[in-house]
Amino acid sequence: MKKILPTSTAGSLPKPSWLAEPEKLWSPWKLQGEELTDGKQDALLLALKEQQQAGIDIVSDGEQTRQHFVTTFIEHLNGVDFEKREVVKIRDRYDASVPTVVGAVSRSKPVFVEDARFLRSHTTQPIKWALPGPMTMIDTLYDSHYKSREKLAWEFAKVLNQEARELEAAGVDIIQFDEPAFNVFFDEMNDWGVAALERAIEGLQCETAVHICYGYGIKANTDWKKTLGSEWRQYEESFPKLQKSNIDIISLECHNSHVPIDLIELIRGKKVMVGAIDVATNAIETPEEVAATLRKALQFVDADKLYPCTNCGMAPLSRAVARGKLQALAAGAEIVRAEILA
Ligand SMILES: [Zn+2]
Repeated sequence: MKKILPTSTAGSLPKPSWLAEPEKLWSPWKLQGEELTDGKQDALLLALKEQQQAGIDIVSDGEQTRQHFVTTFIEHLNGVDFEKREVVKIRDRYDASVPTVVGAVSRSKPVFVEDARFLRSHTTQPIKWALPGPMTMIDTLYDSHYKSREKLAWEFAKVLNQEARELEAAGVDIIQFDEPAFNVFFDEMNDWGVAALERAIEGLQCETAVHICYGYGIKANTDWKKTLGSEWRQYEESFPKLQKSNIDIISLECHNSHVPIDLIELIRGKKVMVGAIDVATNAIETPEEVAATLRKALQFVDADKLYPCTNCGMAPLSRAVARGKLQALAAGAEIVRAEILA
């Protein structure tokens, strides 16, 4: 990026109400067949337009073609039975009925590559594409085949690498892996989680990012956050390992959170997507509030490595709120950009 402080979102944006019920995760589609295919593409264009209108620099598909950031990818793979469901505790936090791994996992055809080509054909701006990270994928499944979280994560990493290489060929500039599980399973993250992530990015020439957050603003997450105390030091566990990894960009939660901002020092040298928008509230930040968060981050990130971003995805918000937050992000970044260039 030539422009300093290029803005982007963590990934998801709200869907139009004609496509899926708004303000809801895992919201079922309202269309079917060809209408659904067309509807998803139309929504993707709207999401692109919303970002451009707000002045976002690195744009995404707003995850308009997926029902959920993890399950939609897994649905396209072999070896997972979506009819056979078991209740597991996701991220040690809440029970969910999840599909079962019943055989070797593999990808027989691309999952998001057509969508990425479609987005590419409609903009010359840099584009970022999000995929679930291997550790977060295994945490959303019941495994009756490999019976080893590490082995399954490794297999998913290989599959993700195939997808990522094709996304790169389709013109994606930044491929991001969402790994909220890195904030929960520290031993596994250190033992093999980061290694699996590096397997997923093997051979890529485009930039790569990992997004680690405290989740969407849903009740299970906000309840969990209440148990974390006044200082959230979870990043302290993953950052030293990530600082030494081949990942180019670390995307983290910052604004309104209890993360001590000096933890960013632990990833000195990496590019940092700093969450300057709280996705767990409907209150729209003022540009000045966004600027204040970015100024704090600038104590620990060089200006040419700071990427203003949202704390997490905005899928569960209303479109009006998400739009206001996009505008605030762009306006807040512009304030600090002007200060740096002055
Ligand atoms: Zn997130």
